[in-house]
Amino acid sequence: MKHRSLTAAFALGLLLAVASTASAARNPFGDAPHSGDLINGRSCGAPEPTAMEMDAVGTALRRYIEEGRASATGQIKVAWHVISNGTTGNVAQSAIDAQIAYMNQRYAGTGFSFVLASVDRTSNSKYFSMTPGSRNETNCKNALAIDPLHRFNVYSAAPGQGLLGWATFPWSYAESSKMHGVVIHYGSLPGGSIANYNEGGTLAHEAGHYLGLYHTFQGGCTAPGDQVDDTPYEATSTTGCPSGKDTCPATGLDPIHNYMDYSYDACYTEFTPMQISRMQSSVGTYRPNLPNAAVAQAKPEPVEAARMTGAVAFRNIYPNPFTSRTNVQLVMPRAGQVMVKVYNVAGALVETLADGEYAAGEHSLAFSAKQLAPGTYFVRATAAGKSVARAVVLIK
Ligand SMILES: [Zn+2]
Repeated sequence: MKHRSLTAAFALGLLLAVASTASAARNPFGDAPHSGDLINGRSCGAPEPTAMEMDAVGTALRRYIEEGRASATGQIKVAWHVISNGTTGNVAQSAIDAQIAYMNQRYAGTGFSFVLASVDRTSNSKYFSMTPGSRNETNCKNALAIDPLHRFNVYSAAPGQGLLGWATFPWSYAESSKMHGVVIHYGSLPGGSIANYNEGGTLAHEAGHYLGLYHTFQGGCTAPGDQVDDTPYEATSTTGCPSGKDTCPATGLDPIHNYMDYSYDACYTEFTPMQISRMQSSVGTYRPNLPNAAVAQAKPEPVEAARMTGAVAFRNIYPNPFTSRTNVQLVMPRAGQVMVKVYNVAGALVETLADGEYAAGEHSLAFSAKQLAPGTYFVRATAAGKSVARAVVLIK
């Protein structure tokens, strides 16, 4: 979590800024400014990825590209849920339309476009102030989510903890899970009440997570950073638009203009080519049913695709996604001790599939997941001090 505590002076300054903006003649955001948590810079509640998750996702996305699979692109249908507390937060249709227009302008060239499929309106004080991982979030999404397999569910509300928003990653849940989607502060829409964050950049940022991107400051100056090779490393998130910011010894100024940094909306101008590639391979791997265009589904890998780089390699995991049971096929170039364990996205061990001496050759291990919740799991095989990991998706 990137939330930092407010100083009294900053809070007062922001309170004045919010109050003066809200008193402007044209206010499409309901009749009163939200007076709960205040926004302290850009604060995003997207989950902090574990090293295990990053490793498995990185491997899966590299494999997708290496296999030359079709880029996943197309039109994404948006199901917009306006959450209000009475009239507060009950944003006008014109503000939603302006946000969708901003998305299409800023995502031009990514292969993705957005079309507003539906708008529904709910007044609920608990949903209105929901926070990431809370019961209110689960209840809200369970009550309101529409066709998560094919639609991008967007919730405008006034999140607690001073957050501008948060998102789920494509691999965080099974493809049809109602948890998929983003929550954004209603004051971040174009023309909204939050100074410096009211041009629409928040949804562009959160949609980036939703399509598979990490923050550009993920991991600081240390490899693999955000797992995108053409975004320079940066040690810290950016506030404002500080030209020349350079916080890591590696080549390149900090990517302050990137949508996946924390800069002001006015500072946002770019996704890099490799971020675009990552979004497309993330959707192709984990959310192939999201865009309207057909995406090649996962298929069994040929034997020769098995990598013999270490002491153990995956030949295949099939089926994947799976509904109750899948087969983990391993290749051992020589006999030895092998450990195969399955972890959830939080990094907790859920099952040990193998722990013992195995002969050279191919081995098939059954992974039965009847007792497990739908979602992404990571299978990690270790032998002779080397590990390989693969993501598998359980759907029910
Ligand atoms: Zn974020």
